[in-house]
Amino acid sequence: MKVLTVIGNRPQFVKAAAVSGPLRERHEEVLVHTGQHYDDELSAIFFSELGVPRPAYELGLGNGTNTEQTARMLAALGPLVADVRPDAVLVYGDTNSTLAGGLAGAQAGVPVAHVEAGMRSFDRRMPEELNRVLTDHLASLLLCSAQGPADHLAAERVAGRVAVVGDVMVDVALLFQPRARADDAPLRDAGVEAGGYVLATAHRAGNVDDPARLRRLVDLLLAVPLPVVLPLHPRTGARLEAAGLLDRLATAGRVRLTPPLGYLAFTALLTRARALLTDSGGVQKEAYLAGVPCVTLRDTTEWVETVQAGWNVLVDLDARAALAALERPLPAQRPQLYGDGQAGRRVVDALTGFRSA
Ligand code: UDP
Repeated sequence: MKVLTVIGNRPQFVKAAAVSGPLRERHEEVLVHTGQHYDDELSAIFFSELGVPRPAYELGLGNGTNTEQTARMLAALGPLVADVRPDAVLVYGDTNSTLAGGLAGAQAGVPVAHVEAGMRSFDRRMPEELNRVLTDHLASLLLCSAQGPADHLAAERVAGRVAVVGDVMVDVALLFQPRARADDAPLRDAGVEAGGYVLATAHRAGNVDDPARLRRLVDLLLAVPLPVVLPLHPRTGARLEAAGLLDRLATAGRVRLTPPLGYLAFTALLTRARALLTDSGGVQKEAYLAGVPCVTLRDTTEWVETVQAGWNVLVDLDARAALAALERPLPAQRPQLYGDGQAGRRVVDALTGFRSA
């Protein structure tokens, strides 16, 4: 069977790293990179470090608003799907590339498989939430990271077939975290010691696009009483610069600004941090797997299981709540939440079974 996979941004390169290998053992994969993320630091390094195969098509459609970007991707993917004539279109997560790939496939009558289906923050102001919901209702095969997301899909009465396969990012994290944990170089480069710093990431539109919220984010980071390593997402860097806030962070002694890091360096820092401060989805999950407490800079999360297990606290941009969360004792238990590291194979099994059903 021929599978057209559409990816475009950093977390999707990580997800594809878990699936492309097992998929290519049994089927033909045509990989399309929309170019949503195109900087080497957010794109090329993930292909080389994680062994993601070279894309057959690179569309180079990085800029513009969400609607412009989605429209340009659709315009490019429509003819491409007609040309390649795949048996299935495979999409991951909740980005513009996910929605455009899903819609291009569904409009062409090609079954769409959605990996990481059923995630919900129930916050329709997030562009990611719109992409998730719409893609789930387009998809024929909905592959979930856990039972909770499958329950959301049942409640929404989606038309496609639902299966719980585990989380593909977990496959990659379980493979790379033990190796990264032994790598001191990224800590040395950042000038920090194991257990003595907080690793922070922020890039959600809701946190960085509004200058008032961005200022609160900066105040929060400056209030942390430990060194804070902050690999700056380009979007965040640009917004900080425009708001005149970059200097405040750059000159604060405790904040160590770095460019966005490759997966291995970032994972080395993640596994040995005292805690994570983040608005990323993937990072909440990776912190949980590494046994590092997470403080999430949002008031909702799709990864509710990590909160229920006591390893993740939602503080939005409330500095006092964040400091209290950083102080709290760790839970005694850390149950397995998102699978056993074999989700990539289960995705391929589900696709194969779907085709022959
Ligand atoms: N990540 C990375 N380098 C960084 C920051 C994040 O390799 O400087 C990885 C992280 O380990 C995770 C993924 O990027 O696998 C998360 O991507 P992001 O936060 O951009 O997206 P989200 O998960 O929020 O959709």
